[in-house]
Amino acid sequence: MSKQNIVAISRTKNWPDFGQPRFKVFTARQLDQIPQLQKLSAERRFEMEVVARVLPFRVNEYVINELIDWGNVPDDPIFQLTIPQRDMLAPEHFNRVASAIIRGADRKTLDAVIREVRAELNPHPAGQMEDNIPTLNGERVEGLQHKYRETVLFFPSSGQVCHSYCTFCFRWAQFVGDKELKIAAKETHQLQAYLRAHPEVTDVLVTGGDPLVMKTRNLRAYLEPLLGEAFSHVKTIRIGTKSLTFWPQRFVTDDDADDLLALFEEIQGAGKHLALMAHYNHWQELEPAIAREAIRRVRATGAQIRSQGPLLAHINDDANIWARLWRTQVGLGIIPYYMFVERDTGARNYFEVPLIKAWQIYRDAIQKVSGIGRTARGPSMSAHPGKVEIQGVTEIQGEKAIVLRMIQGRNSDWVQRPFFARYDANATWLDHLQPAFGEEKFFFEQ
Ligand SMILES: *Cc1c(COP(=O)(O)O)cnc(C)c1O
Ligand code: SF4
Repeated sequence: MSKQNIVAISRTKNWPDFGQPRFKVFTARQLDQIPQLQKLSAERRFEMEVVARVLPFRVNEYVINELIDWGNVPDDPIFQLTIPQRDMLAPEHFNRVASAIIRGADRKTLDAVIREVRAELNPHPAGQMEDNIPTLNGERVEGLQHKYRETVLFFPSSGQVCHSYCTFCFRWAQFVGDKELKIAAKETHQLQAYLRAHPEVTDVLVTGGDPLVMKTRNLRAYLEPLLGEAFSHVKTIRIGTKSLTFWPQRFVTDDDADDLLALFEEIQGAGKHLALMAHYNHWQELEPAIAREAIRRVRATGAQIRSQGPLLAHINDDANIWARLWRTQVGLGIIPYYMFVERDTGARNYFEVPLIKAWQIYRDAIQKVSGIGRTARGPSMSAHPGKVEIQGVTEIQGEKAIVLRMIQGRNSDWVQRPFFARYDANATWLDHLQPAFGEEKFFFEQ
């Protein structure tokens, strides 16, 4: 075995020396403290301020200094991913907030305007609030979502932020400080009680925000109890995270990084499959040495890393970007999992890509990678009935149609059902589509 290989399987963090960087974050109030932004025009900075009043804004120094290519601003994908842009709000929304600021509206008035605009941005798409929160003994269990039989989502209350925020985030409403809108767990025992009552659940997906903003000891408090006999039906623990991008130091140099990896080993030692569901949008996120070291260290624990992320205008609406992303991931031992369609919420008008174009990009990208990279399914819409994949375009007896497949369903019997919609080059979401071949309704609407 070469020296290189020995390093690759050990957990040492002596090479290269990353020092011990401190986490420093900027929020909307500190926009003007970001040195790189000071070089932009006053008009641009005002636009950012307006947008950051409505949509969540938070970016850390690592993202600013290591991930954004400031020579390529405003087109740089990571700049678009994290820094507010004027067109992320509809002109009418933008003007409403901008004019309130310009005319010096008092705090209360401004807050009211902001709340109004937010409410018009479909803060809870796909029935997240009404239909996915389960009940136990007749009471709603806040902090859980149970939509697909096998998999429960758990939102620990201390994991409801991220190391930075994505401008397109579909969970943006959780971050804007509106208590009513917040979905968060109070107690780990709710999760346990629910799982005890649901032996059909095989997967727990801990999500947020980003649960890995938590200290390891908090995460341990949530996860360790699930390793006991009472939860032997839970075979897989997944952690949804963007820390591998936004703060890879979490796995390498943070005080409790080693403890986190030890927890990963412990979970697997108890016989569970552990998967990090890593959110990636662009290969640029995988370039820094520390991002790769983080992946290597996680993989060395035996945990799998599966990658998923939405297809977005201004960030990654290009087959070459996806092909390079998937190829790089495979090279680093990551398993491509889902390509999502940008959801119908928040800044969707800025980021959305027509479904047909999304499918073309997916297909072109898949053609450029080997079978090992073709594990990415998509483009997939997380819609109210389930996850719907665009399989392609076809023509049957002179009628052009979009072929769709339900890859996850609110009703398990729907899973893997193919169905057809009338061809529509502009549709960007399931509710824009009409059934093909003279059908009145899609099968899940009957
Ligand atoms: C995507 C998703 C899951 C996980 O689905 P898999 O296909 O098993 O990865 C679980 N719950 C919800 C609400 C989801 O959107
Ligand atoms: S990492 Fe995920 S939850 Fe956090 S802001 Fe980005 S999309 Fe939203």
